[in-house]
Amino acid sequence: MLKRLALLASVGAAFAVVVYASADKAADESKQLPVPEMKFNDVKEIAPGVFFRYSSIAANDPKIPFGGSNHTWVVFKDYVVVIDANFPKEAADVIADIKKTTKKPIKYVLDTHHHGDHAYGNTIWAKEGAQIVAHKNAARLLKANGPKQWEDAAKDRKDIKDNELKQVDISFDDKFELKDETQHVVFMHFGHSHTSGDASAYLPKHKILCTGDACVNGAFNYMGHSNSASWIKCLEAMGKLEIDLICPGHGKVARKDLLAKETRYFTELRAAVKKGIDDKKSVEEITKGLDFPWYKEWTGVGVAETDMNKDSVKHVYNELMGKIDHDRLGAAPSPLDWRTAPTGVAAK
Ligand SMILES: [Zn+2]
Repeated sequence: MLKRLALLASVGAAFAVVVYASADKAADESKQLPVPEMKFNDVKEIAPGVFFRYSSIAANDPKIPFGGSNHTWVVFKDYVVVIDANFPKEAADVIADIKKTTKKPIKYVLDTHHHGDHAYGNTIWAKEGAQIVAHKNAARLLKANGPKQWEDAAKDRKDIKDNELKQVDISFDDKFELKDETQHVVFMHFGHSHTSGDASAYLPKHKILCTGDACVNGAFNYMGHSNSASWIKCLEAMGKLEIDLICPGHGKVARKDLLAKETRYFTELRAAVKKGIDDKKSVEEITKGLDFPWYKEWTGVGVAETDMNKDSVKHVYNELMGKIDHDRLGAAPSPLDWRTAPTGVAAK
């Protein structure tokens, strides 16, 4: 039954790729917001009052420092809303960049999920007076597993050692909406994709979607806390929005067709792993046999070349073998029962 379901999910997603492709062809490039040309750590105003910072990152080049997550910030009439908190050091860098673009106070910061490069800077933003917003599952995961991971990360990072983990202030179920006469931002939860607590920020006026790691541009898909079948469905749901630009969690700003690339990656990965399982191959044999030339064209890296991708094969293998409890992903080693764990924050 599990195998059959997996196959059906793959077929559905392959069909979705076709739908995106034709919809994109129909879109008139000249009427869309331009895709910005950016170097690492550049900041650009991508729409009126909307700024994007392209943080440095490389899938397999150790010379390029890891600058954490990308950021988008939206300048409302009286305040600023920021997408993603990054690590503490990088949060301070981003705040300095924000102050070059506006004097308004930073009121809300969205943790797109609970991972360190998206949430550990919370403490720095809070010192600026901001409230931290996240999906309730991200809030739970940060509560359940954050303290132990923070302690581990403090061994390698001075900025973590010198600060304290700050939890989420406001958590939401499906949506959290901010609107005034100048801007409109909707934080949305599409389901379990990169983590069970992913949130994207949609700017309907500008047709911009900031996805966090639910959609990345390059070989940056960490799948350890993911549900790959559900992830494909989440990408499909995102595809129903009107989108000119996608501001991914990592990698360059892209057009809407980035959703199709991500969908193709997860769909083909699931199909290849499923075939390997049917052929009684080991994880290592499946990994060695992977061949997605289009993936290298997109990311610059072969699909089995990075440790992250190797781990992804293992993750999908375990998913298809029924060895993963998706509800517990990211919550272990916490002894808290995931399904009843309190968020510790007021729902809004
Ligand atoms: Zn992440």
